[in-house]
Amino acid sequence: MIVAEFDVLPCHMPQSDPGWRFSIHANRVSKGWLVRLVTDTGVTGYGYASATRHMGASAEGLKGALEAFAPHVIGRDPFNIEACLAVLDHELTGIYQAKAAIDCALHEINARALDLPLHHLFGGKLRDEIPVMRVLSIKAPDEMAERGRALVADGYRFIKIKVDGNVNDDFERVRAIRDAVGPDIRLTIDANQAYVPKDAILIANRVAELGVEIFEQPVAADDHAGLKLVTDHTPITIEADESAGSLREVMVLVADRIVDAVSLKVPKLGGLRNAVAAARICEAGRVRCRFGAHVGPRLMSAQAAHVAAGLAGLEFACEFGEFVRLTNDPTEGIENIDGKVAVPVGPGSGGALKPEAEAVGSDAYPMPADA
Ligand SMILES: [Mg+2]
Repeated sequence: MIVAEFDVLPCHMPQSDPGWRFSIHANRVSKGWLVRLVTDTGVTGYGYASATRHMGASAEGLKGALEAFAPHVIGRDPFNIEACLAVLDHELTGIYQAKAAIDCALHEINARALDLPLHHLFGGKLRDEIPVMRVLSIKAPDEMAERGRALVADGYRFIKIKVDGNVNDDFERVRAIRDAVGPDIRLTIDANQAYVPKDAILIANRVAELGVEIFEQPVAADDHAGLKLVTDHTPITIEADESAGSLREVMVLVADRIVDAVSLKVPKLGGLRNAVAAARICEAGRVRCRFGAHVGPRLMSAQAAHVAAGLAGLEFACEFGEFVRLTNDPTEGIENIDGKVAVPVGPGSGGALKPEAEAVGSDAYPMPADA
């Protein structure tokens, strides 16, 4: 069996809330590409390349990288994933989001060719469902509180609050949300690098009294000294996201105990194999990990859920439910029910293109005119 076809299909998904924003960007459209690999025996696998500009991946850059990678993938045995990824690493350093799409598509082909669920390729699963943490966009405190209340009414027990880097404003946001959702909802805040270290320590200690458990990426991604300062001066779990943009970076964060936890994402780490490797590094170093926001089509969350299902060290909710705030999803196979996702049964990830998307190809989900 060899890979016979390599296609790159647009997968641009507008936010249902046009005002959705975090501290760095306000992405009106979540942009990316679906890679479709087809073998000479007719097995198809899809993977998603996520254009996350604050992680160094533009939509245009990803498309160019994927097109450059195509000749290195076509003709290869899809079971030989290591060899394929080694060639791509040699061809172009970094651009992990493009490599992740190919890694996911190859794993999907393997599992489907063997007629197995994807998690069988990674040692099986320890759990059948995973609690979902939903993310609140930065808005005025009362509006965020209202949206938090709506999430709880929908069954979610874990909420992540995007914050902006201003101690007083952010404290008011968290206080309004805590008042609205009650004492039992598990809260996280995420600054996306917006704080300077001393202010981060201040807000961390203030929101600790409101029961916030995790503070994600308080300061600049490359400010390891600042991150460690925050980690060492607050009772809250400090979690790296943008700082953990590669296996090498995860290893450094864990080895030097710069953070208490790491947010794993399949796109930024370069695929399912590297996400598992990063989790193992965390586990060995006694640093917590969980899967962060997989913002894009359902297919991506389905694939990530299969590897998350088998990680013993996973101990907090994962962000596998953000697809519900995006429109135009060409894929299906996983849903949020009562604040959780069930690990799809398979074959493969259980995630797939919708029949109507299969029928008419990429034209079914074009770039929206106002994107
Ligand atoms: Mg984050």
